[in-house]
Amino acid sequence: WHRNKSSLPDVRERTLIAVKPDGVQRRLVGQIIHRFEQRGFKLVGLKMVQVSEDLLSQHYCELRAKPFYPSLLHYMTSGPVVVMVWEGPNVVQTSRKMVGHTNPTEAQAGTVRGDFSVHVSRNVVHASDSLEGAQREIQLWFQGKDLLNWECCDQGNMMED
Ligand code: GDP
Ligand code: MG
Repeated sequence: WHRNKSSLPDVRERTLIAVKPDGVQRRLVGQIIHRFEQRGFKLVGLKMVQVSEDLLSQHYCELRAKPFYPSLLHYMTSGPVVVMVWEGPNVVQTSRKMVGHTNPTEAQAGTVRGDFSVHVSRNVVHASDSLEGAQREIQLWFQGKDLLNWECCDQGNMMED
């Protein structure tokens, strides 16, 4: 998906959101999905997976040199994750705001991390950080056929057609 030529946000912009193993273990999946539904975004893909180190090393390729990288891989492969694709105008930037600062110490109350976590090593959720990153991550985690184009019956209440 590409930005419109007009200044209007692309209503089909998509982002990758994942509930990390700590969030699944702590039974936070429903509450996290609820926040995105409540905001008005559309769920277009969803699955639960035990992630391979190979996929994770691609997902987190920019972090390979970081000292915390081995422990990050260990944490992310410690149990299932629930990975989703959400769609809507400006969803990449808005979901970063909804998820909050990477470090829960800095995360605002009202954000997922600000409400449910205390330490950067267990920050509950992943959200793509840019349009380009979202496109890359969605292709990495999902096959095109598993992302559904569907119409919300109340779409007209969320945005102009
Ligand atoms: P995000 O996009 O907000 O998730 O943050 P980054 O892309 O910078 O980092 C990816 C993930 O690595 C974070 O969500 C954390 O789970 C983890 N991480 C980042 N910084 C640290 C750190 O300093 N220590 C540890 N243990 N984990 C970190
Ligand atoms: Mg990131």
